[in-house]
Amino acid sequence: MASSPTVLMRLVASAYSIAQKAGMIVRHVIAEGDLGIVEKTCATDLQTKADRLVQMSICSSLARKFPKLTIIGEEDLPSEEVDQELIEDGQWEEILKQPCPSQYRAIKEEDLVVWVDPLDGTKEYTEGLLDNVTVLIGIAYEGKAIAGVINQPYYNYQAGPDAVLGRTIWGVLGLGAFGFQLKEVPAGKHIITTTRSHNSKLVTDCITAMNPDDVLRVGGAGNKIIQLIEGKASAYVFASPGCKKWDTCAPEVILHAVGGKLTDIHGNALQYNKEVKHMNSAGVLATLRNYDYYASRVPESVKNALVP
Ligand code: AMP
Ligand code: MG
Ligand code: MG
Repeated sequence: MASSPTVLMRLVASAYSIAQKAGMIVRHVIAEGDLGIVEKTCATDLQTKADRLVQMSICSSLARKFPKLTIIGEEDLPSEEVDQELIEDGQWEEILKQPCPSQYRAIKEEDLVVWVDPLDGTKEYTEGLLDNVTVLIGIAYEGKAIAGVINQPYYNYQAGPDAVLGRTIWGVLGLGAFGFQLKEVPAGKHIITTTRSHNSKLVTDCITAMNPDDVLRVGGAGNKIIQLIEGKASAYVFASPGCKKWDTCAPEVILHAVGGKLTDIHGNALQYNKEVKHMNSAGVLATLRNYDYYASRVPESVKNALVP
């Protein structure tokens, strides 16, 4: 007899449907034309109406179905009644049919921490670089990122009017990652993807030391991990503070589920327990393959400047 889905698989199935709705909200805000841009800490740290609506949608939808979860969202929003239209109640059936990895079967709702980036790549969103944008829902257990969902609302937007817009990628450690075609950069090529809007001397010094064949500058942590798993880039290098736990949690799971590795610039694993500080102060280094090539080339001066 088939057993009923575990808490983890029910949560991932809900997060998938919720992320799809989030993608619709992101597209709807653009279609309406008023982005409602607010500067948070500076001109490159922005919040739009889409960041606000999507965070309300994701956090309220999850909290209604899973009231004992710890949910940490990027945006600081006043607590107010959320419009019923923003609530998503669905659960993606395909995920409910998948087996839960045995090590996660006994997990209880209250043991899980969900990290939500309602819109990753906001700066690029405001500049019309729409395929840089993702919605990130990461799930952590005992401090480790174990499951994640990424919605890319404008996937395919340059592929013509017949192309289906948007996609959702999901993964669970021990089960795999789905919703894309895994591809590797040709052997021997070193293509680094990094920030477009948050550059610094440390970032440039670190990349130069790695002697890359090419450097791609694009927005979003989610977008850069997608580049790694689709063979567009071989390493994501960000030797700088600025990126937060909600940026890395879901992308890290997708990368780890297909055999990649994401750490800080020193090689330390990132922690995702609810008490952890939000900032990834020691930067990010992620690869699908050949992690050691990049890790061994991080200059000591860069390491010394980035304290975990
Ligand atoms: P980027 O690669 O510049 O798109 O950054 C990846 C993620 O980290 C995005 O969510 C950015 O908003 C965030 N981030 C990186 N650096 C900074 C910074 N200096 N200030 C605010 N957010 C940052
Ligand atoms: Mg982000
Ligand atoms: Mg964001």
